Amino acid sequence: MPPPLTPPSEPVRVRVPAKINLALMVGRVGEDGYHPLATLFQAVSLHDDVVAAPAPAGEFSVTMSGEAEGVGDGPDNLAVRAARLLAEDHGVADQVGAALSVRKSIPVAGGMAGGSADAAGALLACSVLWDLDVEPDGLGALGARLGADVPFALLGGTALGTGRGDVLAPVLTSGCFHWVLALSDEGLSTPAVFRRFDELGLGREPEELDVADELMNALRTGDAPALARAVHNDLAPAALDLRPDLEATLRRGEELGALTGIVSGSGPTVAFLCVDESAAIDLSTQLARLPRVRAVRRARGPAQGARLIS
Ligand code: ATP
Repeated sequence: MPPPLTPPSEPVRVRVPAKINLALMVGRVGEDGYHPLATLFQAVSLHDDVVAAPAPAGEFSVTMSGEAEGVGDGPDNLAVRAARLLAEDHGVADQVGAALSVRKSIPVAGGMAGGSADAAGALLACSVLWDLDVEPDGLGALGARLGADVPFALLGGTALGTGRGDVLAPVLTSGCFHWVLALSDEGLSTPAVFRRFDELGLGREPEELDVADELMNALRTGDAPALARAVHNDLAPAALDLRPDLEATLRRGEELGALTGIVSGSGPTVAFLCVDESAAIDLSTQLARLPRVRAVRRARGPAQGARLIS
């Protein structure tokens, strides 16, 4: 029987980053239905804010705001599921509650792990609100049960992900990389992109699941042009097959001066790497005029993982 908890007082605020996959190597689907991966994540400065406020014991709710179109506020919301899972895992689900608020800037179904970010934010915020004793890797291990990208949203920075993308090793980088993100007017379902990937027979053999040395070297030396030459996304052909219009966005961004453009994760967000901040400002102005680009955001990477804010 765990000791009774101190009643919570003030709301706890957490900021969580979106991610880009600088490399995404995807294996053939396994018998468990999952695809083994080798991926290089980079967290970028496009954030969701998650606030956890005290609520009566056993009550877990969420209010969504910002760019949250299409995301429900019921028990399936990933922030609510995360809060409940944390309470259950600590054996305190009948002693604690949380009224969560999520302000979204990460595009929904955009290939930038927005739902995972909210789950990560709820785990950190509630662990502080409820004053729980959490092991160093405890939140990450719990988060992996909700989604393979949750551990990285907690860790942030730049990291190699293996397994389902949830076994993480931080990667050394220097400097800062400038990204321009072209957000799409319509989301893309991650399971649908993986299904198309399977139909196209694109899965790699286990021994082909590794990330190129050139990419690691470019990150270590902060060399944006070298990074541009090394980025790679195995899911891009499947995402482009489902959304052929993204080809034109990719091509146009490169014509307008980006070092390279990549589909972010399962898409449809397209991430352009720029040589410096001024190139990113120029590109973002021009890209905003393209049809089917709903909005353009500039972001820097690497960004910190989930963190408390005042
Ligand atoms: P990933 O890059 O991790 O594959 P994504 O960024 O493409 O995912 P999400 O924004 O995480 O996509 O949304 C995936 C699904 O999760 C959507 O169907 C969405 O409705 C659902 N969802 C549940 N809770 C949330 C949440 N708090 N924020 C965003 N999506 C959520």
